Amino acid sequence: SAKRDPSGSVVVFNPVMLSVRQMHSALAAELRQAIERNQLLLHHQPIVELATGALIGVEALVRWQHPLRGLLMPDEFIELAEEIGAMTDLTAWVLRTALAQVHQWRETLELDPRFTMRVNISATQLQRPELLDDVRHILATEDISASALVLELTESALVAGNEWDAYSFTGLRQLGVGLAVDDFGTGYSSISYLRTLPVDAVKLDRSLIGSPGDSAAQRPFIAAILQLVSACKLTATFEGVETREQAALLTDLGCESAQGYYFSRPVPAEQINADLLAQLGGTPWLVSDPVLSR
Ligand code: C2E
Ligand code: MG
Ligand code: MG
Ligand code: MG
Repeated sequence: SAKRDPSGSVVVFNPVMLSVRQMHSALAAELRQAIERNQLLLHHQPIVELATGALIGVEALVRWQHPLRGLLMPDEFIELAEEIGAMTDLTAWVLRTALAQVHQWRETLELDPRFTMRVNISATQLQRPELLDDVRHILATEDISASALVLELTESALVAGNEWDAYSFTGLRQLGVGLAVDDFGTGYSSISYLRTLPVDAVKLDRSLIGSPGDSAAQRPFIAAILQLVSACKLTATFEGVETREQAALLTDLGCESAQGYYFSRPVPAEQINADLLAQLGGTPWLVSDPVLSR
């Protein structure tokens, strides 16, 4: 068959396009069943208080253990989940599983009293009025206090502008759940959001930290960003810290917390353990670092 592409010229049907589409719908059908088949899982990435090395939280990151395709990352199926209307179920599964995990860690690990579980909430979910009830219900079922949960909201979820009342913000805040702007510094970043959004924290995107080895040149830039965050009375978590030098620089500049491969990759729950806590608590990034001794 032939059809017209947007430019108006006739294109011959491309069998590669067909197979991509078939793959897409096969994956969609499988994704619908992934939850009940127990194929979703969470990896957890430590969030570290820079001054002390305390593990003050983890971010729950969803993966799909596909029977044939292996471990799929969120970039490979979150959009599809949105398309097929599976995000509400997926989000509820993530919240339930993540909070049940906190419960289990509390019994086996000496967690910092400030420890929070961070869960990503997509734009469509944030705009569902039922989100508030879902969160309240899951917190109660898992017996976790609201202050132990932080919802990470990407900026693209927030750009709709002044319709924030339509979101569950107020209710979630009244419930005592923490709210953070995710990936600040990408896409639609607007400094005015930082001042006006009813959030407590901001996660600074890894693109802001520059490439490893570049820390000295980045210093005034990162210092200015952190001042901005602090002027908005928000706490800062830097994402994408990959080197000791970057960790040392952020600590020196007073950034509260950070997350990145330098501290730990996202890992299965059992790897959040006493060894990891001890290792982070040793604050190796603060030991005789040239950045700090200048
Ligand atoms: P995000 O919320 O910004 O999560 C951080 C992403 O950066 C994760 O990718 C993490 O593995 C990666 N990362 C962490 N440290 C480093 C580092 O030092 N260097 C580099 N290069 N990357 C680092 P991941 O797990 O592939 O997740 C991608 C995105 O998928 C997340 O970005 C989040 O927006 C979304 N996502 C993940 N889980 C969920 C979920 O349960 N629900 C929703 N709605 N979105 C999710
Ligand atoms: Mg996030
Ligand atoms: Mg992020
Ligand atoms: Mg990011």
